[in-house]
Amino acid sequence: MRRKLAAGNWKMNGTSENLKELKALRDAHPDPKVEMLICPPATLITSAVVTAADHPLQIGGQDNHRAEAGAHTGDIAATMLKDAGASYVLSGHSERRTDHAEVDEQIRRKTKTAHAAGLKVIVCIGETLEEREAANTLDIIAGQLAGSLPDVLTAENTVIAYEPVWAIGTGKVPTTDQIGEVHDFIRSKLVKRYGDGVGKSMRILYGGSVKASNADEIFAVSNVDGALVGGASLKASDFSPIITALENA
Ligand code: PEP
Repeated sequence: MRRKLAAGNWKMNGTSENLKELKALRDAHPDPKVEMLICPPATLITSAVVTAADHPLQIGGQDNHRAEAGAHTGDIAATMLKDAGASYVLSGHSERRTDHAEVDEQIRRKTKTAHAAGLKVIVCIGETLEEREAANTLDIIAGQLAGSLPDVLTAENTVIAYEPVWAIGTGKVPTTDQIGEVHDFIRSKLVKRYGDGVGKSMRILYGGSVKASNADEIFAVSNVDGALVGGASLKASDFSPIITALENA
């Protein structure tokens, strides 16, 4: 049984004022039946961990440097995230791939460094609209999986997030058939590379304009084990019904 995961990515949004949303979220789900995670900006991790104390709500980072430490001004080491109380980190989000020209090789190294620090990593992959229209989606997904994932991992320390770039923050969502096709394909690739034990146990999240109104149908798709949610995770009133939909899926 794969434990479902509702993960929120606040991106570059939020100051201490927004911690009230975390408080509201934990109050709304005193005994969640799914794993809950929020990845706030790095400046809020420590206070978010305090806000989430004594509740299963977990806090994650949005990125870590591929090096363990050193002369990398402005960057954050995986050990620092762990020390601040984070249990997860995102790797290879499409906004990092675009804004910081991150490529699969760097994402694989970041992922390995995060694993070594004891963090669970959500590795993000997904095609652009041009790639989908050129019928290259599955090739792109296969390439990103092959390049971004380390050879050594576990189903506990790694989660995949399939996030079509064209669906992120746009309100456009793939059809459930399109989501199912990619998630089934990812599952087959994971089983082929890591074997049944790891490949069948690793969670695969969908991300891209998930909201309360579409969550039920997305969570009913095979091999969708939860969601990575951007915009709709900023307010407890938007994220809470998504968590409830996942609990009921
Ligand atoms: C994301 O940032 O990972 C994301 C899926 O964003 P949104 O839900 O806003 O599309």
